[in-house]
Amino acid sequence: MRKFLLPLLIAQALAVNAFAEGREQNNEVYSISEVEDLAPAPTSNATITSYQWTKDVHSSRKASKGTASIISPLMVPHTGPTTIPRTSAINVMSTVNTTPIFWGSSWTNSTFASDKIVGLTVWYNNLHSSPYISAVSEYTTLNHLFIMSKIDTSATNVNSSNSGNVLAEVCKVVGTANLNANGYYPVYTDVARGTANYCAYHSAGTCGGKLVQFAFFFSLDNDPGCDPVSPYAPPAGSAVAQKPGLVAGVSSAYQQSQGLAALANVSAHELMETVTDPAYFPPTGGGYWGGWYDLTGAENGDKCAWTFGPSNTRLSAGTVLIGGFDWKLQGEWSNKAQNGTGGYPTQGGLLKGCVTGS
Ligand SMILES: [Zn+2]
Repeated sequence: MRKFLLPLLIAQALAVNAFAEGREQNNEVYSISEVEDLAPAPTSNATITSYQWTKDVHSSRKASKGTASIISPLMVPHTGPTTIPRTSAINVMSTVNTTPIFWGSSWTNSTFASDKIVGLTVWYNNLHSSPYISAVSEYTTLNHLFIMSKIDTSATNVNSSNSGNVLAEVCKVVGTANLNANGYYPVYTDVARGTANYCAYHSAGTCGGKLVQFAFFFSLDNDPGCDPVSPYAPPAGSAVAQKPGLVAGVSSAYQQSQGLAALANVSAHELMETVTDPAYFPPTGGGYWGGWYDLTGAENGDKCAWTFGPSNTRLSAGTVLIGGFDWKLQGEWSNKAQNGTGGYPTQGGLLKGCVTGS
């Protein structure tokens, strides 16, 4: 869901510059003023109602939804304000160059780091050759490329989840001159979620006038609210240990840590949303979401959040084979599946538009 997460950094910039003039602040870090976040999983199916395409419960949006019978569940393309010059009719990404950033002093702690860095590297590096990538094929022909990972062991704090601080971290670690025009920068922190009502979000901004698509992730270790309950990882908070290191293709063993399995699932959510609904910064200033989302504002990941489909690979339901490992990844919304015969139900079970690729 869309949520305002106005960071202190941006508030300071706004104090001296009008919002619409953000693009002109060539030496400034300029963040879009709202993020698109993933709320935690519901604790029971009782919280699901028929009109709730996503579990992102947001009172203002719910109030404006109306009734299910008059709202189309399909996503539609958005072109942003008509007064804004556009280079293409629909704003999607076709080339994505991903550079994960691991931020926080805990990444030097082998117990915390565990298999997360190597695991997410395997995940991103092999995503393009996995079935999951085709979950967005009706919206864009996606060429996803893993570039490299970067580790910044400088300390995080409670403000590290603020979007302007995350953007500033990306620009610091990568360097403004090295920002990739097709870049996507997921930032994995060692900050526990605590009472925050989101697991992760994606957003965008500019550094030195360069567009930056990025995402933020809490540490999801032992966080049942943001856990896909992968059969290949020990349950959150369990005393049962995973097998040492990643163990490929072993259905009877925990082949990945719980924290890694949880990050992979929310990483799928944020990446696929960034691809189909990236933020857009027109030359005239301001920032907009201009891609695919439905009439409630839900993106492809939102509409199938915390749903896991039948296996298109092997072993138990809801897993996707990437890089020789089984990952339990949420589905992504497909208009084609909803209109046709494919796909599995969203939460609530009335729709059939969720897919994990084929
Ligand atoms: Zn989302």
